[in-house]
Amino acid sequence: MSSTEQARWFVLGGDHLVLLDAQGQIPQGARAQLPAHLQDAPFERFDDWDGEPCYLLDLGADADTSAMAGLRQLMVAGDEEGFRLAGRAWQLATFRRSHRFCGECGAPMAPKAGEWAQECQQGHVVYPRISPCIIVAVRKGPAILLAAHRRHYQADDPMYTVLAGFVEAGENLEQCVAREVFEESGIRVGNIRYVASQPWPFPHSLMMGFTADYQSGEIKVQDDELVAADFFEANRLPRLPPHGTIARRLIEQCLADEA
Ligand SMILES: [Zn+2]
Repeated sequence: MSSTEQARWFVLGGDHLVLLDAQGQIPQGARAQLPAHLQDAPFERFDDWDGEPCYLLDLGADADTSAMAGLRQLMVAGDEEGFRLAGRAWQLATFRRSHRFCGECGAPMAPKAGEWAQECQQGHVVYPRISPCIIVAVRKGPAILLAAHRRHYQADDPMYTVLAGFVEAGENLEQCVAREVFEESGIRVGNIRYVASQPWPFPHSLMMGFTADYQSGEIKVQDDELVAADFFEANRLPRLPPHGTIARRLIEQCLADEA
């Protein structure tokens, strides 16, 4: 790259932190505008954004991250493309960090030329790990099934969201939706329909969003994962996940379809 090339600079460190400029965005401009200690750093090109190259640098888990912000901040600020690309950068960095040795022969691995992969001297190659997850909004008449999850639970102001879970080996997505909903809530669902997907870089999920219709059963919360679950109508909703998440999109679509 030349010193005057206009680019986007994704500088990562710690646990899902990212360097933002004074406006709270991914730094944009020539390399010469970066802080002095980053001028000669080994950036890797990983994508493009509006015709400008995106460069990635992972300073590591123990880096000085005092000037960095959480990746979620981009999402909360409504910077959809910034969040998507920073999430992609983080998934690639997580892959490099966690695949330093070959799982087959134990030898050290290094970046493979020409593609995003790690390779050992014996030619074993691995690619970034992506974990498929389903996320589903269950509709019952004018109401939607929402649950307060044990993870991140705030007793004074609990957030309620839709159900989600990892796809198991040998399972198709529709089976996963039906199994997760039944395991977590005791509800049987049908009419399972795909809506949209979202990469979720915490650390490497691909969320696949569905809607489904209530068929039978009474709510019986699985205590390990959920604190509470209930059917909510649009006029008495609890606190919901932020805009920019597929969870929020599913909830809004589900309620709009009913209205
Ligand atoms: Zn190997």
